[in-house]
Amino acid sequence: MQKKSFIENIEKNELLFAKFCMKKAGIGTWIRDNENDLARLDESMIYLWGMQDYWKEGEWISFTEKMLPLISELSEDHLTKLQNLFSGKESDNFLVIEHAINRLDGTIIHCEVRIEVHSRNEAGLPIIITGVNIDTTNLIKAKKQVEKFNILATLDHMTNLYNRRYFAEISKNIFLISKRNKYKLAIAMIDIDNFKNINDTYGHNIGDKVIIILAQEMKSLTRNSDIVCRWGGEEFIILFPETSIEGATNIATTIKESINKLNINIEKNKYINITISIGLSKVKIKDNLLNLESSIANADKALYEAKRTGKNKVCIYKDK
Ligand code: GH3
Ligand code: MG
Ligand code: MG
Repeated sequence: MQKKSFIENIEKNELLFAKFCMKKAGIGTWIRDNENDLARLDESMIYLWGMQDYWKEGEWISFTEKMLPLISELSEDHLTKLQNLFSGKESDNFLVIEHAINRLDGTIIHCEVRIEVHSRNEAGLPIIITGVNIDTTNLIKAKKQVEKFNILATLDHMTNLYNRRYFAEISKNIFLISKRNKYKLAIAMIDIDNFKNINDTYGHNIGDKVIIILAQEMKSLTRNSDIVCRWGGEEFIILFPETSIEGATNIATTIKESINKLNINIEKNKYINITISIGLSKVKIKDNLLNLESSIANADKALYEAKRTGKNKVCIYKDK
């Protein structure tokens, strides 16, 4: 359509243009005759529900019979609020709920619904209720993508363990919770023994495979509440909330021995065994977050001691 005739058309019929805009924006409006459970939908609202071949603009249809069956993902809480509004149990005149609509063509859209009681009878029962539905499908898709991205950003892509950046964040929170509740807290620093040999003998890909298998083993031997993190390369750090240094020593020894027992299949009929060294430190939960930093450094010192004195062992940092 030419620009001139398009504009002339709008000027002739502004209502038509408003309808066009509402459809494009995914906004529909409705009025409810509450005493008779009837709803009157505008064209854009009918379009939103995918019912243009079944419902007509201005037609009064039963909400309970025609619309309710197409609604999904309506939480118990929102359903109760809606029922309380319709039945007059709720004295507030405004309500916002969210739900999905299962359209007849099989597509599903999500809506935010802003509802307003327009008038009530003497008994307080709403007579006329109006509403605006807003299509939030794309917004929800975008939100989900951001959530997924945020989760991915906390993980090391090779091992799926937490990454160092996430560790820095979560360890601060756990430190503060431990301090508040006077919980014990311990840290383990773990390094694979003679890993350069693996890379040199079997290649970098096999080296990667070993790292992944060991990461899985550490994850499966620890509690869900323990924070198992790939610190970098073939080094790992584990934070054990609510755990004494004795408890951490037990679990560290179990990890070391279980990893030792793994027969890792690196090529056809070829298996290798790996050993690891672990340095442990308790976290002094007094004072400030600097204790967390120094406890990591202490675990690292204990790890160095384990390496220096023969590897394949658990060493505990001893306060002077
Ligand atoms: P040590 O017992 O003293 O720890 O000896 P090491 O050979 O394990 O020495 P170190 O820990 O210093 O070296 C680790 C090596 O791991 C160096 C690096 O080439 C290799 N490495 C680090 N990250 C990766 C990785 O993601 N994949 C593979 N395949 N190798 C890695
Ligand atoms: Mg190393
Ligand atoms: Mg190493």
